[in-house]
Amino acid sequence: MHEQPLKVILAQPRGFCAGVERAIEIVERAIERFGTPVYVRHEIVHNKRVVEDLRARGARFVEEIDEIPEGAVTIFSAHGVASAVEDAAKDRRLHVIDATCPLVTKVHREGQRYAGRGFDVVLIGHPGHPEVEGTMGQIEGTVHLVSSVEDVERLQPRAPDRLSYVTQTTLSVDDTREIIGALNRRFPSIVGPDVKDICYATQNRQSAVRAIAGLVDLVLVVGAHNSSNSNRLREIGQDLGRPSYLIEGAGQLRAEWLEGVRTVGLTAGASAPEAVVQEVVRRLAELRTIEIEVLDGIEENVHFRLPDELIPATDGANRLPETTAA
Ligand code: SF4
Repeated sequence: MHEQPLKVILAQPRGFCAGVERAIEIVERAIERFGTPVYVRHEIVHNKRVVEDLRARGARFVEEIDEIPEGAVTIFSAHGVASAVEDAAKDRRLHVIDATCPLVTKVHREGQRYAGRGFDVVLIGHPGHPEVEGTMGQIEGTVHLVSSVEDVERLQPRAPDRLSYVTQTTLSVDDTREIIGALNRRFPSIVGPDVKDICYATQNRQSAVRAIAGLVDLVLVVGAHNSSNSNRLREIGQDLGRPSYLIEGAGQLRAEWLEGVRTVGLTAGASAPEAVVQEVVRRLAELRTIEIEVLDGIEENVHFRLPDELIPATDGANRLPETTAA
């Protein structure tokens, strides 16, 4: 028997961001408005619980446009899509509702603007991630994908003085800052956004996990293994010297991780529902007597406007326009 209770410190903020809330609401409202089935290209957000809940309500998840019947209601996931996907959807006369996070769309627009001025665009991101594929496929021009300082050293742009960069929204803020630093050193005239302007939710969740990692013996991150931002949260705990695990749910929590642990920090990626966090808390309470503390952190008040066709007339007046203030 452990005499000492286990202190559980919850990170603040954690879990759903405004882009994820909007994407889920788009699927729910599309089902209400158009009936089932509604098709969703790719997981609407990278979380199995969210996907299963929506599937049970009538959403059908597919990877390719040619899996969707002609004319069907189709939602693009929060990660965004390449122009070729938009064109394929047009060819199939799909009724498209775009759940791409407005902050991802902003990256597309920035990249398009730079390419339109004849600049090469450096995209800082992870190869193979759907957001990266979408962003690369939205920019008509020369795009160089880099994911490390070493990649920057190897970069061969067409004209070093006409170079710009954009980034994936869910990267490690620290790694991104380092890569931007390397770009600035090699190409002093390069243009692009400051790290803090990329995504408020990524920034805030990473700051919160950094704050709890200093206080705890163990870090638990609730999130999917294919969720970029959740992986980054786990890495921050690990880099700060704390054993850190990414778990999809309470079932993956292993009792032996708690041996000798007096304080555990708990957070969740931007696509992980709070209900799963609470299941993990209940599981911790089965294993040990727990005391819960919520870390003081940034209160987020960010909401993104829904597509017009999904806003009921009675609701529109109450919605704020898009804002990225945190
Ligand atoms: Fe949008 Fe940021 Fe959330 Fe990604 S993490 S969906 S960019 S708000």
